[in-house]
Amino acid sequence: MNPRRVSKPIKIGQVTVGGGAPIVVQSMTKTDTRDVRSTINQIKELEDCDCELVRLAVPDTQAAQAIQAIKRGVSLPIIADIHFDYRLALMALDAGVDGLRLNPGNIRESEKVKAVVQAAKGRGIPIRIGVNAGSLPKPADPELSIARQMVEAALKQIKLLESLDFDLIKVSLKAFDVPTTIAAYQDIAQKIPYPLHIGITEAGTPKRGIIRSAVGIGNLLYQGIGDTIRVSLTAHPREEVIAGYEILKSLNLRQHGPILVSCPTCGRAEVDIVKLAEAVEEELLKINRPIKVAVMGCVVNGPGEAKDADVGIACGKGKAILFKKGEKIGVVEEKDFLSVLMAEVEKF
Ligand code: SF4
Repeated sequence: MNPRRVSKPIKIGQVTVGGGAPIVVQSMTKTDTRDVRSTINQIKELEDCDCELVRLAVPDTQAAQAIQAIKRGVSLPIIADIHFDYRLALMALDAGVDGLRLNPGNIRESEKVKAVVQAAKGRGIPIRIGVNAGSLPKPADPELSIARQMVEAALKQIKLLESLDFDLIKVSLKAFDVPTTIAAYQDIAQKIPYPLHIGITEAGTPKRGIIRSAVGIGNLLYQGIGDTIRVSLTAHPREEVIAGYEILKSLNLRQHGPILVSCPTCGRAEVDIVKLAEAVEEELLKINRPIKVAVMGCVVNGPGEAKDADVGIACGKGKAILFKKGEKIGVVEEKDFLSVLMAEVEKF
């Protein structure tokens, strides 16, 4: 795995993005921002699953006005997502947002961008230049690949911000197509010093979207690229946060709660391992500590194959071996598989 790309840190509220800080997991609310109560409730749900930054859509004046009340009800830093109307960005800044996202594809006049940048600069609020393959500005050269067009759009906007002596910048270049997204980030990572927000846009429902996101985000992270991630899913935003942490955990980039190791089961298993692993997974959701727990389908191969697990169970007919770091510590009756394993997890 490549060492992480060095980027210039920025602060969104109390959260540092870039500069070697832990990779930040973020999400976006799916409520109507004008509905303050529902939006606060959803942000609280995100706080409960350790989301670190949250973005809100600000499609109109009422939504911009709602930000102030929403901010009062939550503790997560809030980023306003602005498209088309720069005045909404100014209002969001007045309402006290911690960050802005602007899409250079739909706020094109430099005078308007300048007005937003000046207001953000006065308050020390960072701006994400959020380029999206689906809403690109007209390219100077239509022959350019989509990845290059995305990079060009971002560079043009960065130049404008820099000309105003503004450097609280974060950049994203998202496409649905994974190779396009990867190519765009690889390119820009070498050209700018700013932190990168990475993700695959409109990735889909959890079943497929998590795979698409894991392949794209995972590949970039492996190359050392990326300072904050958002997994975009057609689902409750909690799913995005859980998936985000799983991606980071699978590359050992962050620790977050337990890791479940479970064997795929095969003809050697004499117990319903799918059912047991699902039950263990459910129980582990209640635990916040990092711990590696194994559920294995046979006594012969189980303990050895999962020897780096902190606690594990290897099941045989009617009985199972309980093990720690591959060493047997006890024998369990089938009716107690779940309870004994979880008691050991609690003790760990
Ligand atoms: S641990 Fe045992 S049951 Fe599970 S896949 Fe391996 S050999 Fe099969």
